Amino acid sequence: MGLTASELDELPYRVAMRDKFPQHYSAAFHFLIPNVLSVTAIATAFSFTQNIQPLEWLMLPGAFLVANLIEWWVHKGPLHHRRPGLEIAFERHTLSHHEYFHDDSMAAAKPRDYYYVLFPVWGIFAIFVPALPIAAAAWFAFSWNAAMLFLATAAFYFIFYEWMHLIYHLPENHPVVRARFMQFLQRHHRLHHNKRLMQKYNFNVTFPIADYLFGTAYREPTRESLSGTNGARS
Ligand SMILES: [Zn+2]
Ligand SMILES: [Zn+2]
Repeated sequence: MGLTASELDELPYRVAMRDKFPQHYSAAFHFLIPNVLSVTAIATAFSFTQNIQPLEWLMLPGAFLVANLIEWWVHKGPLHHRRPGLEIAFERHTLSHHEYFHDDSMAAAKPRDYYYVLFPVWGIFAIFVPALPIAAAAWFAFSWNAAMLFLATAAFYFIFYEWMHLIYHLPENHPVVRARFMQFLQRHHRLHHNKRLMQKYNFNVTFPIADYLFGTAYREPTRESLSGTNGARS
């Protein structure tokens, strides 16, 4: 059994970080706007397609996989290491998100805690702008439809990431996390919030495809392996 909402709310490191909250922060607003923008972007991208060919549909799983690799790479890189020009990513992630939520205090106590979970609104553009040259490359290499399907998938992936990450930090025993598969994904992310592991393991927040591909998926040590090894897959 984890900490209660009031115990979470009184954790000294959370209290200390609370003065950084903007005065009128609304988690609902910061969740609603990306949802509206993403659905609009998906609908707009599809409205620009014409007569999509069977092979072009392959762009959907292809772009999803590319997005998964980018998620892993960005999380392993600038979100956990200071990189010139991208310090804000490190500060918002390693110094804020990871400082506020530890592996034994993953749940938000109040909606305002999602300030340290959700993307700021400008973050949407930070995702969308790098997606444009990749879409242009898909247009050049494949077709206009492929480029539009790439942008639609990028918008979907972004909002999928927001939903999943929000779910992992919901109050404990929330009905959404009762399904076995969701518990598996939540545990994957909780292990990443362990300070000993966060620089090395479990960088995927959605599906851990790249983590398994690149050997950075961490499994909790079994009783047999506790005698020596650290239980990591690498
Ligand atoms: Zn998290
Ligand atoms: Zn992280």
